[in-house]
Amino acid sequence: MAGEPQADCLFCKIVAGDVPATVVHETETTLAFRDINPQAPTHVLVIPRAHYADAASLAEAEPDVAADVVTVAGRVAEQEGAGDSGYRVVFNTGAGAGQTVFHAHAHLLAGRGLNWPPG
Ligand code: 5GP
Ligand code: ZN
Repeated sequence: MAGEPQADCLFCKIVAGDVPATVVHETETTLAFRDINPQAPTHVLVIPRAHYADAASLAEAEPDVAADVVTVAGRVAEQEGAGDSGYRVVFNTGAGAGQTVFHAHAHLLAGRGLNWPPG
């Protein structure tokens, strides 16, 4: 059923507590934890607790939870001191765009210059 935990999904295992993660924020619908291979001083993954393969599938099925993911990204950015300096929220979607974990997640990146777009 849509949104149900998947036995072979790494992020479902993190939600269940079966794989450890450094959690920085939790809500009823979301979990935010540090990326294991950070690409910036702040690199946090914000995920829905429910399993959807990507952000668009999540938004279509549960728009309120998709909004929660974006809201939490902003809260964590504030918590990390990046509210004023700025931050980036990225949803890689599809293997061709670099998605490797097929449980919807936002990358929150902050704490260094992000050089696209230039200027
Ligand atoms: P994607 O490439 O699918 O957009 O992002 C998946 C992210 O998950 C990658 O940035 C990768 O470093 C991170 N990741 C992979 N395995 C783990 C893990 O076991 N724990 C944590 N915290 N992050 C992980
Ligand atoms: Zn999952």
